Amino acid sequence: MITCTCVKGIEETYIDVMTSPMRHACVFTRINFSNSAGAGVRAMAIYRIDAVEDDHLAYVSPYLDSLSPALRSLNRAIHDNPELGYSEYLAHENLVAFFAHYDGWKVSPRAYGIDTAFIAEYDTGRPGPIVSFNAEYDSLPNIGHACGHNLIATASVGAALAAASCASEYSLPGKIVLFGTPAEEEGGGKIRLLDAGAYKGRKVDVSLIVHPGNVRDAALVSTAALSRFKVEYFGKEAHAAAAPWEGINALDGLITAYTALSVLRQQTMPGDIIQGHITHGGAVPNIIHEYAAGVFVVRAKRQARLQELMKKVTACFEAGALSSGARLEITPILTYLDHVPNKALGRSYRRHFNRLLSSASSPEIMTDHKHSTELPEVDRPIEPPEQDIIDGFSNASTDQGDISYAMPSLHPGFQIRCEVGPHTPLFAAAAGTDDAHARAIRAAKALAATALDVLSKNGYLREIKEEWERDVHHQG
Ligand SMILES: [Zn+2]
Ligand SMILES: [Zn+2]
Repeated sequence: MITCTCVKGIEETYIDVMTSPMRHACVFTRINFSNSAGAGVRAMAIYRIDAVEDDHLAYVSPYLDSLSPALRSLNRAIHDNPELGYSEYLAHENLVAFFAHYDGWKVSPRAYGIDTAFIAEYDTGRPGPIVSFNAEYDSLPNIGHACGHNLIATASVGAALAAASCASEYSLPGKIVLFGTPAEEEGGGKIRLLDAGAYKGRKVDVSLIVHPGNVRDAALVSTAALSRFKVEYFGKEAHAAAAPWEGINALDGLITAYTALSVLRQQTMPGDIIQGHITHGGAVPNIIHEYAAGVFVVRAKRQARLQELMKKVTACFEAGALSSGARLEITPILTYLDHVPNKALGRSYRRHFNRLLSSASSPEIMTDHKHSTELPEVDRPIEPPEQDIIDGFSNASTDQGDISYAMPSLHPGFQIRCEVGPHTPLFAAAAGTDDAHARAIRAAKALAATALDVLSKNGYLREIKEEWERDVHHQG
């Protein structure tokens, strides 16, 4: 038996608060309960609900508020011990240990022979959609968690646990899978898991992840396709003063190519990016340079455009070889596909996120949860799709792009308070604050509610997959 006191001071008694009609009109601040285990008073906030279909958000929101302190410790442990890609041993250990506290989760550490990858699975026991979350936890050299991947891990773990708990509570069908995906910055951990069959083997239907930034919140984040490769020129030594004509100058080959690339940049399209640095520029000035090398990165909005651009870029390197006589070798290091956001999934996330915004800023919400009060009073809602897709465009790249070509994917961006963007020391500091944590928890709520829509709404998964077919296979 549960007695609820709403903000207007009216008391009503229900057998089950989750099915009470009153919660559609009021916000509870105090709940007196008595059952076989005893009696007591529990203070909590249940957000205003206008429609039955939002039951799941009403469940995951207080659930994640109650989980937030434990997630804060996990977040701090990752943030304060930054580890580079494929060396995230502590993060792996902490994340795997975290799932041990929750019933029904099967956890596979060191998945597929990757030391710092893991998989956590929750099966409702009823056949249905299989929804996955990706958790990143690698940092950057010298500047720590400057990409805020500690917040990504926090949000994905929180969302997965909330979705599983709600699925159990409401007897929903399907499975929740959390992939611990290392080395996003430099090593493409998700691609290794994709190639190993981790997603296909589990028949995963959709993939969800969020990423912090310092720009406004967006559901439909797209990222650039990327190719990183090493360029080497092999020439021949000679005395640079006495007999330079006997040598072949490898550095000249590389400099000619660099200059040709600089010229090419004038003719590229918006979204085309060419970056590079010289790692080897010869030994000393008085020897003709036998070896020169550099690492280059080329990006474009879509994979098809990247391939076009790469033909022009390769021609510049060939020009360097032709003019200098040095032999050219190009060795691929890493390629990430562009991220194609799924608009159908984006609709759910946008709706849930904007509802949470209005709840948090509403004077009617008398929440007593300290983490919720740390959210800013006013945040900008995510714009409708036409503007959202513009707000969500980024020239950065991620291995979630490859995931988006393998299955429908959503990679919303959530704003944290920081004057500057990711990959800076200031952003690393901002990613460690309580405010950033609260924002990660809010993003996790919207993400969990999106996952629950996939599990519970008839025809929604079909709609998501049709959208994906159109975007990925018919646009190129
Ligand atoms: Zn990054
Ligand atoms: Zn990142």
